[in-house]
Amino acid sequence: MNKTCNFCGNKNFREKHVQYIYRHDTQLLIVNNVPCEECEYCGEQYFKAEVLKKIEKSFGEIILSGKAAKKEIKVPVEEFTEI
Ligand SMILES: [Zn+2]
Repeated sequence: MNKTCNFCGNKNFREKHVQYIYRHDTQLLIVNNVPCEECEYCGEQYFKAEVLKKIEKSFGEIILSGKAAKKEIKVPVEEFTEI
């Protein structure tokens, strides 16, 4: 692979699996074990277009079409001025 990090110019990346949080307006979809490449220097993560497309599709199926997700969690929400 011969690419360069957009942020720091480093050329070394490592393959990782991470948790990806897809956000659209106020809706969130959390996807675990998403493959990405992480810059070894600054830690910026790069996802392949096909990976992001897959997540977007899944978001559509769950949020728009009402498909049941594997799991749902309750997420606490705070206002910064009140904490
Ligand atoms: Zn970098």
